[in-house]
Amino acid sequence: MVEPEHTDVIVIGMGPGGEYAAGALAEAGLHVTAVEDRLVGGECPYFGCVPSKMMIRAANLIAETRRVPGMAGTATVTPDWSPVALRIREEATDYWDDKVAADRFAGKGGHLVRGRGTITGPGEVTVGLPDGSRVFRARRGIVINNGTEPAIPPIEGLAGTPYWTNRDIVQAEQVPESMTVLGGGAIGAEFAQVFARFGTAVTVVEALPRLVSFEEPEASALIERVFMREGIRVCTDAPAERVSHKDGCFSVHLGGAVLTAAQLLVATGRRADLAALGVEAIGLDASARTVPTDGWMRAADGVWAIGDVTGRGAFTHMSMYQAGIVVRDILGQGGEPADYRAVPRVTFTDPEIGSVGLTEAQAREAGLRVRTGLTQVPYSARGWIHKAGNDGFIKVVADADRSVLVGATSAGPCGGEVLSALQVAIRAEVPVATLRNMPYAYPTFHRAIEDALRPLEVLS
Ligand SMILES: Cc1cc2nc3c(=O)[nH]c(=O)nc-3n(C[C@H](O)[C@H](O)[C@H](O)COP(=O)(O)OP(=O)(O)OC[C@H]3O[C@@H](n4cnc5c(N)ncnc54)[C@H](O)[C@@H]3O)c2cc1C
Repeated sequence: MVEPEHTDVIVIGMGPGGEYAAGALAEAGLHVTAVEDRLVGGECPYFGCVPSKMMIRAANLIAETRRVPGMAGTATVTPDWSPVALRIREEATDYWDDKVAADRFAGKGGHLVRGRGTITGPGEVTVGLPDGSRVFRARRGIVINNGTEPAIPPIEGLAGTPYWTNRDIVQAEQVPESMTVLGGGAIGAEFAQVFARFGTAVTVVEALPRLVSFEEPEASALIERVFMREGIRVCTDAPAERVSHKDGCFSVHLGGAVLTAAQLLVATGRRADLAALGVEAIGLDASARTVPTDGWMRAADGVWAIGDVTGRGAFTHMSMYQAGIVVRDILGQGGEPADYRAVPRVTFTDPEIGSVGLTEAQAREAGLRVRTGLTQVPYSARGWIHKAGNDGFIKVVADADRSVLVGATSAGPCGGEVLSALQVAIRAEVPVATLRNMPYAYPTFHRAIEDALRPLEVLS
């Protein structure tokens, strides 16, 4: 019988939110025990947002250089992956070493335990270690931030092949000659475009009828058009039936066709393993995909959950936002509970697809009296001036009864940046009349919002 060690708060998983919450609670004077079995910081800095955005920055430089002819003279670019791979190793991930983050947490007074934590009772977490196990008992409670891992679909033949997930592709030291990407969501689309711009022959295979299917159909059509123009093959409505790997070549069988490529990236979603976490011990459903929480991120008595596992949007900003709420709740500081009306998300393809709130279809399903407005970025002053690489649109979705926006998509150059104005409008429920009667700086990309709002004149 292992003697339990007492602590105030146990944080399981040090993703972006867990790291923030654990650090803030330790700085506030609580005894915080954080359990992490991989890297402090989680998926985002080592395998997700940061390395992928470094790749995208490099790939966009190549694309911009290719846009020089006809606009600014001549330019040739010879893509070279080695500076990208080196930058990810040296600047982003420290060769996948989290010493800096672990030291930062210790500097705040936190206690890091490396190993896999399992909830073994109310307020109790057991960490299995090579030389036995340690049991921790929390006086205040447990914060679950176990995140997600790549979900591998049960496709015949796939298991056992040397396919890549996001955790492998960010470590690539060379680009493959050819690559099939299973999954046309945000992660698959971003990596597909990066590698295509570096010379890989890329095919994207998506089981659903369109790429980035959670976005407005106009966004899917735009990305598919841009991809095809850039030489990326797009197969939609095409569930992969079988995969094989022989002599360094992957074959993906779908609907009578066989796609062959040197590499296969599986980007078919994310999953959280709640059974392995032991949530049954605190009365939560181990077979569920997510941990439901209230506005204060409470999942059960003395249990909070944050991040991807809450199913409120698998984004770093969501994990951090929820972590702030948990910190306030545990410290008894009050404030506002979680509000998910205006959660922004950005797919960092070129053009970027930024969106917030409800899509038109979701607004209709919610029973709202919907009005929409849409404008094409190339027809705006700035889009026309920008010329090469100006693909994009802004779409707004309004609740006609309340005369406020409930959703918006901003696709185009800086689409994610333009989104912020729309996010404020939705979150603060700014009346459409106010949005329509204010000057937008000329000639910015965000000025196209004014054009998108024009069909909503009737609401002003
Ligand atoms: C390729 C890619 C690109 C992305 N790009 C973006 C982007 O541009 N913008 C954005 O906002 N989001 C992006 N994301 C999503 C983002 O990475 C996650 O939403 C973010 O990391 C928040 O996750 P989290 O806090 O839930 O935990 P995670 O980051 O998943 O971390 C959870 C941690 O918990 C640990 N853990 C799990 N179980 C246990 C256990 N039982 N015991 C101990 N430790 C455990 C894991 O080892 C891990 O370190 C991207 C993701 C991927 C994969």
